[in-house]
Amino acid sequence: MIEDNYKQRGLRNKLVKKLREKGIFDEGVLSAIGKVPRHAFFDDALLVHAYEDKAFPIGEGQTISQPFTVAFQTEKLKIKPGEKVLEIGTGSGYQAAILVEMGAKVYTIEYNNKLYERTRKFLPLLGYQPFFFYGDGSKGIPAKAPYDKIIVTAGAPVVPTALTDQLADGGILIIPVGDRERQKMLRITKLNGKLKQEEFEFFAFVPLLGEQGWKQ
Ligand code: SAH
Repeated sequence: MIEDNYKQRGLRNKLVKKLREKGIFDEGVLSAIGKVPRHAFFDDALLVHAYEDKAFPIGEGQTISQPFTVAFQTEKLKIKPGEKVLEIGTGSGYQAAILVEMGAKVYTIEYNNKLYERTRKFLPLLGYQPFFFYGDGSKGIPAKAPYDKIIVTAGAPVVPTALTDQLADGGILIIPVGDRERQKMLRITKLNGKLKQEEFEFFAFVPLLGEQGWKQ
């Protein structure tokens, strides 16, 4: 059992308050962040940092995204319960847990085999059961398409056409696009087969690898 006591709940409430101050307003997102035990994703040595608004290493050279980044991307997706969501970059599973907590039907894909194995075993222990896939998510998961929403949690050099192709009509893709150091957050909406693009601020993600990502 993973311990979740009043102390951790208190720290989570503080984090939610901080995210509100930073401009996150979607109550569904804030409520999910208030529920998912972020400390359970941390190694003992880093435990004291679990509720800081920062990214942290999760092994394999990868990171658990900053809570603000998770909240920002999730809010931009306008998630409704029952929606089919594809996440590229499972990593620690924290973002997937937030989406499941919000009632989405989540498909998540990871390119690093060790992380895939670790997270697909770990996340169900917290009560979160998305569908886990191993492979190159820059190509999406065509067999399960279309998706109402797609979230890319690694920095891409371009918007992979595979992902816009796998978006349902009325669907939304949120993806950071730029160079290896920083990326602009893009939201792409498909309406009557046409793509509309909106641009938001810059973030710093680990690179999206693979066929429609960076070549190593
Ligand atoms: N969503 C994660 C953060 C992940 S960091 C969380 O909540 O913790 C980005 C992840 O994307 C890394 O685990 C990395 O291995 C993975 N990744 C990079 N390129 C990928 C690709 N082409 N397909 C799937 N995952 C990829």
